Parts: sequence; structure tokens; C-alpha cells
Amino acid sequence: MTNELSDKLPSAENIRLFRSKIIRWFNKNKRDYPWRETRDPFKVLIAEMMLRRTKAEQVKVVYDRLFTEYPDVEAMAKAGSEKLEQILYPLGLKWRTPAFGSVVREVKEKYQCRVPDTRKELTALSGVGEYVAGAVLSIAYGKKEWIVDSNIVRLFKRYFGIKTSKEGRREKHVVDMAKIYASGSNPRKANLAILDFAALICTPRKPRCEECPLRSNCNYALSCSK
Ligand code: SF4
Repeated sequence: MTNELSDKLPSAENIRLFRSKIIRWFNKNKRDYPWRETRDPFKVLIAEMMLRRTKAEQVKVVYDRLFTEYPDVEAMAKAGSEKLEQILYPLGLKWRTPAFGSVVREVKEKYQCRVPDTRKELTALSGVGEYVAGAVLSIAYGKKEWIVDSNIVRLFKRYFGIKTSKEGRREKHVVDMAKIYASGSNPRKANLAILDFAALICTPRKPRCEECPLRSNCNYALSCSK
């Protein structure tokens, strides 16, 4: 591995080694959240929509209340928009609240209460982008589908020494890496693992390199020790 930034895709073998170390770390350090205890695609979809730009601890309280009052698509579709707004209020970002009502309606009317299981159909739902679609497909349906968020871009960038622009999560070489990463067995675990790893170890400001299981091959750590 070199210390120079590159826009080349790392080898599949390198990505697989990275993946196996992250999964090993995750087996001992994973975070527990209520939306991780279920495979219900509707609950995963709503949780992932809530988690966009919001802290998990904030989401936890709202998630519990929402699904206690409205446990499924049918029940949530009957809730008035005012009621939904009231429950979702603590999440902030009021502008996105209407998307929840719309997505529930679309799943009920267009898909007879069953959350679709293709990226094309999911990204056609209100407020559902590539990240949320990939999360639902891998975490709820167990499909070998990729996810990329800014934390994952940061980790790829530091570890593999790749170049990215500000729009890193949309760049082809980044998405291609995430596809290879998710292509092994147990994509659910692999994707949850990289999310936790990037949030807890390879943190934005002060990455915890001394305790990181990736440090011996990490481009960033190697360049810092020079
Ligand atoms: S060694 Fe440091 S920079 Fe590299 S992946 Fe680990 S925490 Fe991130």
C-alpha cells in the first residue's frame, strides 16, 4: 500500500481484508439499537430515514414511541399528519416530516403494505435516497447491497488513500468500493460493522489510530508515523 492519494480502485483482495478486520472488531464492539433487533423492512426503512443527519440517541426515543403507537404500515397510514409531526418533532429538521407521511402512504397504496425490495423501487419512494435504500436492502432483506455515507467515505479515504471530491459519496470509485465491500457473505453485518467502525474508531476529528485494528495497513496512519 502506498501513501500517495489515488483515484484507483483498491484490489478486491485488499477490500476483503479490510472488511474481515472490521467485522472482527464489530463482533466485540457493536452498538445495540431497537431497529437492529428487527428485520422488519418497514421499521428499518423508517429508522434509517430518521437517522439521516440525526443522532441515534435522539432517534431511539422517537422510534420507540412511534412504533408503540403505530406498529405497522396500516396503523401508521391511519395516523394524521399532525400526529406524526408531533411524534417526529424532537428529531428537528421539520422539512423532512412530510416525507414520512408520503412514504407510508406510498408503501400502503402502491405496494400493499410491503416495503419493496429493489433499489429502483425504494429510491422512487418519497425521501428515500441511495443510502436508505441500500440500508433497507442489506439490513432488512440481507441483500448484497452497498451503502455509502460521509463517514464511510472518510474511512475509505484514510485507509486506502483514495482521492475524492466533496461529493465523495456519489463518486463511481467510492460506490464501486462499497459494492465490493458488501458483496461477501452477511452483507447485513458487514454494513452495520462499517457504520459503527467509522463512527467509533475512525472518527472525523481525532481518529483512534492507536487502538485501530486497521492501522498496520492504513494509508493515513502510515503517513502520520513518517
Ligand atoms: S488507523 Fe486511524 S485513520 Fe486508519 S482506519 Fe484506523 S482509525 Fe482510521
